[in-house]
Amino acid sequence: MNAVLQPRPHRPIRELPDSLISQIAAGEVVERPASVVRELLDNALDAGARAVVVRLVGGGIRSVAVEDDGDGIDASELSLALRRHATSKIGSLDDLEGVATLGFRGEALAAIASVADVAITARTADAAHATRIDAASGELDAAARAVGTTVEVRELFFSTPARRKFLKTESTELAHALEAVRRQALARSDVSFAVWHDGKAVARWPAAADDDRHRDVLGRDFAEHSRPVAVDLGTLRIAGRVGTPESARGRADTQYLYVNGRPVRDKLVGHAIRAAYEDVLHSGRHPAWLLFVDLAAEQVDVNVHPAKAEVRFREPRTVHEAVRRAVTAALARPIEAAQGDGATTTTTATATATAPAAAATPPSQASIAFATGAITPLRADEPLAAWWTAARSMPETAGSSDPADAATALGSAVAQIGGAFILAENAHGLVIVDMHAAHERVVYERLKADLDGGVGATGTVQALLVPLTFAANATEIATAESHGDALRELGLDLAPVGAQTLALRAVPAALAGGDGVELSRSVLAEVAQMGSTTSLARARDGLLATMACHAAVRANRKLQVGEMNALLRDMERTDRADQCNHGRPTWRQIDWRDLDRLFWRGR
Ligand code: ADP
Ligand code: MG
Repeated sequence: MNAVLQPRPHRPIRELPDSLISQIAAGEVVERPASVVRELLDNALDAGARAVVVRLVGGGIRSVAVEDDGDGIDASELSLALRRHATSKIGSLDDLEGVATLGFRGEALAAIASVADVAITARTADAAHATRIDAASGELDAAARAVGTTVEVRELFFSTPARRKFLKTESTELAHALEAVRRQALARSDVSFAVWHDGKAVARWPAAADDDRHRDVLGRDFAEHSRPVAVDLGTLRIAGRVGTPESARGRADTQYLYVNGRPVRDKLVGHAIRAAYEDVLHSGRHPAWLLFVDLAAEQVDVNVHPAKAEVRFREPRTVHEAVRRAVTAALARPIEAAQGDGATTTTTATATATAPAAAATPPSQASIAFATGAITPLRADEPLAAWWTAARSMPETAGSSDPADAATALGSAVAQIGGAFILAENAHGLVIVDMHAAHERVVYERLKADLDGGVGATGTVQALLVPLTFAANATEIATAESHGDALRELGLDLAPVGAQTLALRAVPAALAGGDGVELSRSVLAEVAQMGSTTSLARARDGLLATMACHAAVRANRKLQVGEMNALLRDMERTDRADQCNHGRPTWRQIDWRDLDRLFWRGR
């Protein structure tokens, strides 16, 4: 009755047969045809191949064959190549620490042969002919082929129907297999790749320069809507391309990371890249990127994942920081440098745009408050609301204004249309600016720069001559009370002065001139919503974005030409001015050629 008292049958410890060990190991290495493709490509590349052909039948389930023109395998070593833990790539633990080849465990061929029919045909440079080995029987036969190796893998999981059931449709498996080739092809532009499926050519990438290979594999769209990353810290190199925020998509299907040439996934690097996009990308969208991280072999442990799909960095924080900075820098290039490679739709790459003209000088009569609202700016020397105040002091001119503006990246303002867009003319043609999005970005970057310089630094906070008091509800009062210090650090001095009244005593200088009550209410609402678990410091940029959005010029406000030009000049001086905080573009270029084309004019 009591199961515990039943004598348990004795089960002696036994060593597993070799074939079973391989099958168990295969469970980790071989998941689907794509994993076979990856392992065979690794081997071909390790053997110094210059050209690789992948032939798939039935999505790779029926057969995967990889032919290469590498070193080949000596006939006497063919059966060894198929044995577990037999490798020509390392001989000691020291070798493992500095391993430069993609493979090193001597496990893949044995694992694959335990779950599929495998045959290898190989010929070395000094052999009179090729030799073929059948893995199941171990039989060797003379065969014909040039120097190199062909590995054929048929009927994957034929002897393990339970695992075969996990495979998807042929077209899905084919897609995964193609993706495996793509991953390798992106890192090895110097090697030509061809893929055949059921006798038809499905991909051909001849050896090419890196940029050309990346365009061949990832498409023209990515090439045109991405920016180069290139950072060399001596011990650490980061290269590749990162997609512009506005070209980000709903799916994270174009994100490739290589560490020392090895395609891997890495949470740390992924996080660093996301952090770099945080400011410029709407959450939920996925940027496309291709990143190569190279560092001394001793700085990476490659032996941490059965399918070699992950690595471990010796100094993860350094790598994280370097990647974040490299990507941030690539995304933040100011407008004139970015022209022609992504920020614009149609510009030709002729970089005739010159550096921004001398910034619009802040006027002395900076005390003109722009919007309605009871805030009375105290200081006349604030650098902040510069463009508003500068704009306000400029005389309105008709048509094209200062010729100095025309030579700048965004050109000189001509008109405002739809209450929302500024039209300008620059050296390339017509510029269209979304004035709300652009202003929002300018204000946001200024808020951040001011805060990073330290609140209290001259000009970052605008004290109000007369505190602005307004009626508040209980939640607003409570929020202002419990987060008062944190809000002050953001430049917003809000405190209760009665059971139902709040007083605003200071605002971030960049927001002076706006509606202080509205600003306070939207910030308090957002803080209240975050609850007590989110720290305000971490939510800082989000709050700044709310403030900026709030303060930015609303659509439908009529701007004068001087105001428009001041905004254009400010955009040129602002990092990341190409997108608003939500990742939407702030401006577009339509160049002369496109205008001509619209009117069928041959120029
Ligand atoms: P590993 O790649 O970890 O060494 P594998 O099981 O993938 O282990 O391969 C075992 C050995 O077979 C390799 O070390 C290599 O010597 C040889 N080999 C496999 N594929 C090829 C190939 N395409 N060209 C030349 N040698 C190969
Ligand atoms: Mg291998």
